Amino acid sequence: MYERINSKKIPKGEHMLFMMYNLYSKSKKPDKEFKKMIDKEMQIAKKIGIKTMTVESNFSDFRVGDYMDVWNSKNYKYLVDSAHKNGIKVFLYTIIGEVAKHSKVYQKYHKKWAIRGPLNLRYSGFNSIMLQGIAYEKDDEFATFVFCPGSNWKKYFLKQIFEVVDKYDLDGIYIDRLSYRINCRDKRHGDKNHFKEGVLKIVEEVSKGLKKRKKEFMAVDLFGKPSVRFPDKIVEKYLDLADYILIEIVPGPGIDMENNPLQKFYAYFAAKAIWKSRKLIKIITKRLVPNLYNSLSISKDPKRVENIINCLKSYGQTKIVTFSVDFTNKEIFDSVSKVAKKTKTGLCFVSGRKKLSEMIMDK
Ligand SMILES: [Zn+2]
Repeated sequence: MYERINSKKIPKGEHMLFMMYNLYSKSKKPDKEFKKMIDKEMQIAKKIGIKTMTVESNFSDFRVGDYMDVWNSKNYKYLVDSAHKNGIKVFLYTIIGEVAKHSKVYQKYHKKWAIRGPLNLRYSGFNSIMLQGIAYEKDDEFATFVFCPGSNWKKYFLKQIFEVVDKYDLDGIYIDRLSYRINCRDKRHGDKNHFKEGVLKIVEEVSKGLKKRKKEFMAVDLFGKPSVRFPDKIVEKYLDLADYILIEIVPGPGIDMENNPLQKFYAYFAAKAIWKSRKLIKIITKRLVPNLYNSLSISKDPKRVENIINCLKSYGQTKIVTFSVDFTNKEIFDSVSKVAKKTKTGLCFVSGRKKLSEMIMDK
């Protein structure tokens, strides 16, 4: 059950759209239906004040990490042009270190670039199985591992993402999972702090490359999650470099694998076990995940969201958007939009498995 948001109730502001490409098409051939859907979505987006957007799962066959290889180059170009026609900037969606196990980059480089923990084990990233029913459909499944920003992945990542920005004339880059804090033990990548320093180096290079092109950088962090702390030194530094900050106010698992023993356990052992028995576990995760990502607890405490926003503002950040996976819950939407209105910040509409036209009541 979900409720549509009445477009009249959306406060004025610079809002954002987080779109899941796979919801519109997975076709590799010309796709007329796609164009119609996208034009409709972009018109609604414009109407409700969306000024920026990012598109996840645009990479072919969900191969996270193979950023150059989109499902359908013509569709992707059409989407970007349609957004531009409606005055919406498009940011390339990237994840700082996650790669899908079935990606080309994983298969070629995982022995050199994957993160190694104490027992020489690799870290699992998010598995799509955890997002079943929220972002992906039943058959869309893939496992991810974390690559180290201290390795040559950094160079490879930067080269790829700037190629996409230039090829499709995108307006900027969005980097997800910046809150990964891991101590990678692979000595070939550098000394013991190389993971954390690598995160910052990537952010600095992205910011530099975008400035040169007169484009923008959007950082994503998980300040809202109970398990993730307020800005540490790395975050403080990139708050200066980012043009936009997106805050997630979902209470789901934050990504501080180094300091959170439960997460460490999950990344090392549980994720693999869950993945292996996914057919069985899907039944449970389908029920569990929507609760895990339910923002209700945080939305009931709007002061907390306001504090996070004010904290970011104290670092000079003015362009802030707030993200909740369940804006179609009236209580959550009302609570967060009140904070957005008060703090003069934007809302990030997340399509999940719903199109914007299915989220918004346009009457
Ligand atoms: Zn490393």
